[in-house]
Amino acid sequence: MIQDYSLLRSAISQDSLLGELRAQFEKMEDKRHHNCQYKLPSVLMSGVAMFSLKHRSLLSFETQTEASRANLRNLFGVEELMSDAGFRKCLDPVEWQPLRDIFPEYYSRLKKLGIVKEYHYLGGYNLVSLDGVEHFQSCHVSCAHCLDRQLKSGETQYHHNFLAAVMVHPAHREVFILGGEPMIRADGQTKNDCENAAAKRLIPYLAQAYWRERFLYLGDAIYATAPIIRLIQAHQADFLLSVKPDSHRSLWKSFEARRANQALIHSHTVEEYGERYEFHYFNHTTLNEANPEVKVNFLFCQVTDRQNKQTTFSWVTSRLISRRNLMDLMRAGRSRWKIENETFNTLKNQAYHFEHNYGHGKQNLATNLVYLMLFAFHIDQIVQKCSKTFQVVLGVCRSKIKLWEFVRVLFYVEKFNTMNEIYVHIASLFKVKLA
Ligand SMILES: [Zn+2]
Repeated sequence: MIQDYSLLRSAISQDSLLGELRAQFEKMEDKRHHNCQYKLPSVLMSGVAMFSLKHRSLLSFETQTEASRANLRNLFGVEELMSDAGFRKCLDPVEWQPLRDIFPEYYSRLKKLGIVKEYHYLGGYNLVSLDGVEHFQSCHVSCAHCLDRQLKSGETQYHHNFLAAVMVHPAHREVFILGGEPMIRADGQTKNDCENAAAKRLIPYLAQAYWRERFLYLGDAIYATAPIIRLIQAHQADFLLSVKPDSHRSLWKSFEARRANQALIHSHTVEEYGERYEFHYFNHTTLNEANPEVKVNFLFCQVTDRQNKQTTFSWVTSRLISRRNLMDLMRAGRSRWKIENETFNTLKNQAYHFEHNYGHGKQNLATNLVYLMLFAFHIDQIVQKCSKTFQVVLGVCRSKIKLWEFVRVLFYVEKFNTMNEIYVHIASLFKVKLA
């Protein structure tokens, strides 16, 4: 029987999700020193409020109107208003691992709403896109966890990177955060951390946190290495990873030879909506000569679009390739870009101010700020997926930046009982009827 999730989804609001987040924060053990002035849930919710409202800093929180004070308290559970400096001081010593553990809780919620099922692909897999992003850099400010690099000028630049794991689907716009791993220098470590090393920590974490799920990992060519593939398979997961001629030379040589001789290779062409897909593939090959026991299946695709522009893609996968799944594998492989387009670009360009320097701290501040921003983003994605009111209001505002401008203005001038009331109010300003 097909379950109808529309009733459950219609009950979802930003308010219910924020309330659940605050309840999770209240369960967290506060290991900070007793001299921390503000309660932990208040500190964390202040950050979530800042990112939900897309403020560039908490400084603007210091000049609150009577209405916005009430709204911060009623809508975000922020009972104590704090200065920017006070917020950073209180957030810096908080450990980031319990924050990450909240995402699997949200996943249970996505399951109940039928979203996980809706995102099933290639026969019951959930596609997990991995990608790293830099979120802090400075030549002047650093901490014990900073990565460093030498600039051409001879200066040392310090930076923090973050590896995110995001559930994607080729046909759906929204993406959902599953977890992440900061790329930082661990205590006592002298070498820089890197994306590959972070993936080696993140994949076992995801396997444990989502042990019931069938994951198919998507990633660029830096993940298509024998150690990462072994790790993915050791955790009963599958993969579809990009490969490149320069980073996978022996595999490429084999592909070129088979293609030239038209032997031991399958070729197939599909025309769809004016685009032409030329596939070449072969199964049961080795990733490289150094690791003959690591078996992969190789897929090459050249797409010619209506303007005659050609793009090529190539992957290795643990899934057996056949004529029947070519198009699905190609679409899954290309949906990896959603982590770049829908996640990081949204965070950078749609007012989350991802690259803005919110602060650095001495312990975990830079990483904790990323988690709080990801909570705000994740809640926005669930609301966008489920709330008809939000969808209508976003439609009339035409862009998220515009919508959030309206939200911020109303937040300062009028008291509301819920965030949903703000969206309803915006709809009334545009004289739009909500169902
Ligand atoms: Zn640092």
